[in-house]
Amino acid sequence: MNNLFTDEKHYLTLNNYLKNIYNEKVFKVSLNGNFSCPNRDGKISTNGCIFCSAKGSGDFAGNINLSIKDQFYEVVSKLENKWPNGAYIAYFQANTNTYGTVDDLKMRYEQIIKDGKKLDDKIKVLSIATRPDCLNDDILDLLNTINKQLPLWIELGFQSSNENTAKFINRGYQNECLIKAVNNLKALGIKVIVHIINGLPTDTYDDMLNTVKFLSKLPIDGIKIHMLHVINNSPLGALYKENPFPLLTLEEYVKIVVTQLRLLPPNVVIHRITGDADKNELLAPMWTLKKFVVMNEIDKLMRKENYYQGDLYVQDC
Ligand code: SF4
Repeated sequence: MNNLFTDEKHYLTLNNYLKNIYNEKVFKVSLNGNFSCPNRDGKISTNGCIFCSAKGSGDFAGNINLSIKDQFYEVVSKLENKWPNGAYIAYFQANTNTYGTVDDLKMRYEQIIKDGKKLDDKIKVLSIATRPDCLNDDILDLLNTINKQLPLWIELGFQSSNENTAKFINRGYQNECLIKAVNNLKALGIKVIVHIINGLPTDTYDDMLNTVKFLSKLPIDGIKIHMLHVINNSPLGALYKENPFPLLTLEEYVKIVVTQLRLLPPNVVIHRITGDADKNELLAPMWTLKKFVVMNEIDKLMRKENYYQGDLYVQDC
């Protein structure tokens, strides 16, 4: 049992984890570094992951027409009205944020941290979302340098450990690539967060649990669990409009997430148990728009059954 679990939340929420370290509310500030993605620009493919929106999974990232600094302060000025004493995580969210030359990447990251000096003293972490196949040795060196100046989190899109699903969603890399990336980053002391999606049409209930069992064997620090959003302007959206396939109900999703939480090690930080979709672009399932209902139902089931994160976790000897 983790002592950061509460009566309300039987799992290690990002909020509690951050409060315990920084003793204050810490907010994510999403930024758009105007990166591309090798799964869209032709290096791997031109189609992108089947579920991905035209904005490269960055629907809530910053305004691309502003500098990184201006994007940061635009968001912060809104947050400060409500939470004047907050701290921040600068988050490069849209597209593949380690895809480029080292100089390109440096130019973007240095707008947040340069020679040990941060854009703003209230920035506690730099978080970078990327693909595990965009982390070569030179980039790892750069990330290592940054991590020595400011805690660095790398977020890796994985979605499923089912290799058939990886092909179906056009992920463009095999599971082995994720294992290598996680181990390389952890060897440098960089925190790793993995994103998964429940409800992909080629994944069974067991596949979704197997994804979490697979990850629980790796030294990951955090996980983001999302329900599949079928988005209008995506290849999956086109398939759905042509031939609507069954999607998980809220009840099914809740049961799956609760079991996944129970299978994860108790020290893995749960960054998300549901995602944000743009309501103007979402085709289905519409219940995902009621984010607080989804979270409440998960919490309620865990409390009712007295389940905790990790109570089904099996550690290898
Ligand atoms: S999900 Fe990420 S890796 Fe896949 S196409 Fe979108 S931006 Fe690229």
